[in-house]
Amino acid sequence: MSLSLPNYHDVQQAAQTLRGVVHRTPVLTSQTLNGRLDAEVYFKCENLQRVGAFKYRGAYNAIARLSEAERKAGVVTYSSGNHGQAIARAARALGVTATIVMPLDAPRAKRNAAASYGARIIPYDRNTEDRVQVAQGLADAEGLTLIPPFDHPDVIAGQGTAALELFEDVGGLDALFVPLGGGGLLAGSLLAAHAIAPECLVYGVEPLAGNDGQQSFRKGERVHIDPPSSIADGALTQCLGEYTFPIIKQYAHDILAVEDGKLIHAMQFFAERMKIVVEPTGCLGAAAVIREVVPVRGMRIGVILSGGNVDLASYAACLAHEP
Ligand SMILES: *Cc1c(COP(=O)(O)O)cnc(C)c1O
Repeated sequence: MSLSLPNYHDVQQAAQTLRGVVHRTPVLTSQTLNGRLDAEVYFKCENLQRVGAFKYRGAYNAIARLSEAERKAGVVTYSSGNHGQAIARAARALGVTATIVMPLDAPRAKRNAAASYGARIIPYDRNTEDRVQVAQGLADAEGLTLIPPFDHPDVIAGQGTAALELFEDVGGLDALFVPLGGGGLLAGSLLAAHAIAPECLVYGVEPLAGNDGQQSFRKGERVHIDPPSSIADGALTQCLGEYTFPIIKQYAHDILAVEDGKLIHAMQFFAERMKIVVEPTGCLGAAAVIREVVPVRGMRIGVILSGGNVDLASYAACLAHEP
């Protein structure tokens, strides 16, 4: 670890940087759900954030904090998902050149979206090349700064601003449920929650098939798993980060894991009852609450809906899925 762990002050600073840059996303409630659970549930709608996910927060904050020389040289990342789109869009907003390393067989929609933000796309072969090595190679050769999807202090601090806004808007909470992939969103949320509402129990929620975070939390050290398979494509990480894990280990109340069926059920609930599109990964925290994976009755609950990017064909298939 060459940088220091971020703290609450960094989240507050990120909030300053992001003011007027990110949407202050709405907090929605459902009387139907509250009645059924006998709880007050507040959904922080990052599915309505720029580029359709909270990732814009961390990406913009990380690029904004680079030196003049680093900005001039440009940034590189290896995510073709929400982080890649967020880097492409944030880099353009800050006048920085972005390079996105993407698999040769990445969906055209993803390539086009990144290219439409002016990013340079570098294809690599998933079967023979390692994307991190490809990105690091470009960084070394061209003097670019690599901005990873979760394991970076400035990314974590930026992601923490979503929970910060939620606490500002609704006040104290008994529990907060956060989708968990590599842990940038959870670690940032924990920094905000611990400072603002230290009594609030914060849960990370993963896909059951990819519960490396749960295993790591229980064991007290990072556990590396084989590539998982789940519809939660934004949370298929194999290991928590060097920077995210210590924060999660210290402050998280527990890590929960939910199977894909619960995510589909939650997507249907959001479409039918709340009229919002939430991607499978974005439903992780909500699914744990809706299906009462832990007790929620009588509590004030916060849930981060982390994203809304899902291609229409798979969205339609999820909605049509019989319970
Ligand atoms: C990236 C992502 C996550 C997971 O975030 P981490 O910081 O990797 O834990 C959750 N939901 C969505 C929609 C994402 O794009």
